[in-house]
Amino acid sequence: MHLSPATTWSLVLGWIVLSVVVGVLVGKFIRFGGPLMTSHTLHEDSHTHGLADDCPRCREHAEHPEASLDRTNTARLLRGQVYTALDRAAASRLTRAIATARYLTGILDGESS
Ligand SMILES: [Zn+2]
Repeated sequence: MHLSPATTWSLVLGWIVLSVVVGVLVGKFIRFGGPLMTSHTLHEDSHTHGLADDCPRCREHAEHPEASLDRTNTARLLRGQVYTALDRAAASRLTRAIATARYLTGILDGESS
């Protein structure tokens, strides 16, 4: 099989681009130990201004506050210091998580007595 130089260069270039893209994706996956994570956009500090409604990373925090939100923001939300729509969503999930934990703890307490 004989390939023209142009075809050969296209294949080589394609291979390099593919390798870099796959390398970056795999690198991110390994670094964070899980699915790809978004980044915060440039916005005010969430501790004083709430989770930014237009920020993809803040949205992730709001979707899984019990697993990803830091203690300061978690405490803020549980104290009712809610400033944004994402804050409201996160606070609601935290409240539900507490209710679930109380329910499960009640079951355990019932078993031990
Ligand atoms: Zn953010």
